[in-house]
Amino acid sequence: MASIAIDGPAGAGKSTIAKLVAKKLDYIYVDTGAMYRAIAYELVKTGVDIEDEKALTDACAKMKIEIKYEDGVQQVYMNGENVTPYLRTEETGNMASKSSAKAPVRAALLDIQRNMAVEHNVVMDGRDIGTNVLPNAETKIYLTASADERANRRYKELTEKGEAADYEKIKADIIERDERDMNRDIAPLKQAEDAVLVDSSDMTIDEVVTEILTHV
Ligand code: C5P
Repeated sequence: MASIAIDGPAGAGKSTIAKLVAKKLDYIYVDTGAMYRAIAYELVKTGVDIEDEKALTDACAKMKIEIKYEDGVQQVYMNGENVTPYLRTEETGNMASKSSAKAPVRAALLDIQRNMAVEHNVVMDGRDIGTNVLPNAETKIYLTASADERANRRYKELTEKGEAADYEKIKADIIERDERDMNRDIAPLKQAEDAVLVDSSDMTIDEVVTEILTHV
């Protein structure tokens, strides 16, 4: 099976790009951020204190996480319930950013992610795919863009949906998440030595997809 790893900071456009690359190649798109968000959602729902190591370990041990594809789109099931519709909120994203630094949370997902790449051709996006989850991926991309550009895109996305958005707050959140992801002890976000750096600040979506396909 072949795999393409796409890592990078928040808001770099990884999921948009990864989906398109997967479609072109007829691979499945694996969104690992959604899995971290599903755990975060469950932790918030059940009120687990993530600083309490034992409570967190016990909570993770009880979680049954399943990944399914419905009409070609990834769905995350937590203890039998499809939680996918609840994962894109700011609250869940903020919790995911914090809880994903914890060992029991990362351990709960590693094998699930690796097994997916054993069974399917995958385009997998996240923070530690090329460095940790799939170190032998055939193609590794580190997709980034300036913090201003990433904040800008997120701002546009929210305002286009008619949601209230504060540009400075969005930018500060993005920078805070990057710092947490880059400085954690386990599987921090960094460019794998053999990854191709793609800076999408001044590129269109099509240009980024084309560039990535040249490396496959
Ligand atoms: O990419 P997304 O915003 O959905 O990811 C949510 C959070 O999950 C990120 O802020 C990051 O902390 C964490 N994450 C991770 N490793 C991955 C994917 C996501 O730590 N492979």
